[in-house]
Amino acid sequence: MATDSPLLVLEGIGKSFGSAQVLRDVDLHLRAGEVLALLGANGAGKSTLVKILCGVYRRDAGTVRLDGEQVHLTRPEEAIAHGVRFLPQEVSVLPDLSVAENILIADLPLKRTWRGREVDRSALRDRAVTLLDRLGSDIDPEQMVHRLSSPQKRLVEIARALAGEARIIVMDEPTAALTEHEAQALFAVVERLKAQQIGIIYISHYLDEVFAISDRIAVLRDGFNAGEFATVSASRREVLDAMLGTSVDELYPPRGEPADEIALEVENLNFPAALHEVSFAVHRGEILGVFGLLGSGIDQVGRAVYGALGPMPGALITLGGRPYAPADPRRGRDAGIGFVAAERQREGIVPDLGVAANLTLPFIDRFTRFAVVSRPRELDYAQSWVDRLSIRSAYLGQELRLLSGGNQQKVCLARWLVEGLEVLILEEPTRGVDLGARQELYLALRQWTAKGLAVLLVSSDAEEVAGICDRAIVLDRGRVSGRFAGGVSPADLLHVSPVKDHL
Ligand code: ADP
Ligand code: MG
Repeated sequence: MATDSPLLVLEGIGKSFGSAQVLRDVDLHLRAGEVLALLGANGAGKSTLVKILCGVYRRDAGTVRLDGEQVHLTRPEEAIAHGVRFLPQEVSVLPDLSVAENILIADLPLKRTWRGREVDRSALRDRAVTLLDRLGSDIDPEQMVHRLSSPQKRLVEIARALAGEARIIVMDEPTAALTEHEAQALFAVVERLKAQQIGIIYISHYLDEVFAISDRIAVLRDGFNAGEFATVSASRREVLDAMLGTSVDELYPPRGEPADEIALEVENLNFPAALHEVSFAVHRGEILGVFGLLGSGIDQVGRAVYGALGPMPGALITLGGRPYAPADPRRGRDAGIGFVAAERQREGIVPDLGVAANLTLPFIDRFTRFAVVSRPRELDYAQSWVDRLSIRSAYLGQELRLLSGGNQQKVCLARWLVEGLEVLILEEPTRGVDLGARQELYLALRQWTAKGLAVLLVSSDAEEVAGICDRAIVLDRGRVSGRFAGGVSPADLLHVSPVKDHL
């Protein structure tokens, strides 16, 4: 049973990365023997909040109290010393050591022999067995870790946390890479930890999972506390509303009136291990959303059409009524397709070039005469965009890396909004972009679709797809699992993605 006085209290936590504020005045508390689910859409701030607790990030504001005492957890070692253990999303074990060595790595039992001090093998094994036993596991402690299954590796990590006398264990989406059966085994471990009076913060965006194992649910949305519920008495509907927000309408401009004419038609798009027989059409003036979770195929679908994944044998694609065969990005661009990649840092921009140079990058030919770039024309063009999209930079030559995420994204978008573009493909267009800039980006998209531009918007943010798109398709394991005409809700999208049958 959970005790009454909280083990942990976080109060007024604030955190910004550069100019993007990702946590604002967030409160959270946890009792011993309690499972607190931390729920929220992608980008809500869940990982950032627990990384602050675990000494990975420093907070800008707020206090952390353990047993009523204020503590300063500015490095992971300090958090560990206070009994706060973090299991990150990716399993981290040392594959070439044994199970027992992995569990007790921080505190190997030693003994004196005639050769000097050595690891006490039998004490090592006994202590590992005891810890594994607390988790109800009978993994052989002498086994090399690289031979274990991924849930067994998870167990080893949890046993390692227990070896360090954990009082609080934070699990960040621990089931993301597990099968249903493996997830069940993990839940049994969580039950055991509870019974041992350990407080658990369990991050997830899977409702079913959260309802199955938590005592209490705290919801974050856009960096705010959006709701707190006792799990037994909470309804899915109210938790989902808190997650997705019920008053997000103002963020999105009114929908447009797509034309009958089809701008892009894709039939039978396949890419090994990612896309299977995917078909869709985007009309002129329309924003078609492609929603899916990580690994659903949304990482490939946009770039496959653009040509960044090479030729697509078997696919039948028409662009403005003409046949189009993806081959490489240049061909895509020449055919009238623009593409803004999700990984802005890697693919989208040249961080050390200025705003103007980044704006004109893909179409530098237009500003070039006799191989000389026309600076005045480039600057005129850049200035017009800076004005139209309210891009906030000190001057046109300011290096892009010095701009906020939202302003960088506006630059990425603006440079494609040129005459002659038929289809714009956007991947996760507002990830890491603050609300104000998002609103401006959405407005700009609507202005361009009003002129006939077709947009394919690929996103793992259900709220965004429901808010901005005219129609949407949902991908699940590479296949289209749902199609929605106007007026789709975030809950509809989540309903046909694996969120619902994750358990
Ligand atoms: P969640 O775990 O709920 O999906 P995160 O805490 O990972 O959300 O992210 C919240 C926001 O903070 C996102 O907009 C993300 O892009 C941003 N963010 C997270 N980590 C960093 C970082 N190290 N630098 C810049 N921005 C970050
Ligand atoms: Mg996260």
